[in-house]
Amino acid sequence: MAKVKKKIKTIKIDADRCNGCRGCEIACSLFHAEPKYSSINPAKSRIQVVSHRLKDIWLPVFAGEYTPAECMGRDVYTIDGKEYDECGFCRAACPSRDLFKDPDTGLPLKCDMCEGEEEPWCVKWCLNDVLVVEEREEEVEEEEALDDMEIGLEALTNKFGMSKVMETLARMSMAKKG
Ligand code: SF4
Ligand code: SF4
Repeated sequence: MAKVKKKIKTIKIDADRCNGCRGCEIACSLFHAEPKYSSINPAKSRIQVVSHRLKDIWLPVFAGEYTPAECMGRDVYTIDGKEYDECGFCRAACPSRDLFKDPDTGLPLKCDMCEGEEEPWCVKWCLNDVLVVEEREEEVEEEEALDDMEIGLEALTNKFGMSKVMETLARMSMAKKG
């Protein structure tokens, strides 16, 4: 498969600079409100600041992929003498917690880097420079675009199995030939 260059955008987090103001959560929920900018609800934000005041922990975490199953092993990290909860760094919306789920619908939330915006809203409104966008180029394999027919056939084979689909096609072709 041919290789193509792709721009990868990431947000670097300097957690030591975070003071837990939660401006990023407000900005994200405002940008993704429906209609856009119509309401603020940090519970709907795709960035959440995991915090423990007594331990001086403020950790911004971005919503990643949804997973339908809980993981079996969990990690506790101690960094610079601060102990972070198990699941603290995890970005998944998973069945064991409510984080990264829309409180109204229960549907998983995922950071989309504020698609279409020059600068992600959480980055723009973090006044402590905790969140910084970084861009790099990576060589990746070119994905072959599936046309509509392939997409339809793929869905049918997933549902009924390849042999059933082939059988049906053969029968239809015989019927057409008459
Ligand atoms: S806006 Fe910045 S400083 Fe405030 S909680 Fe979010 S990441 Fe931390
Ligand atoms: S990049 Fe956009 S979608 Fe992702 S957490 Fe920040 S404001 Fe929300």
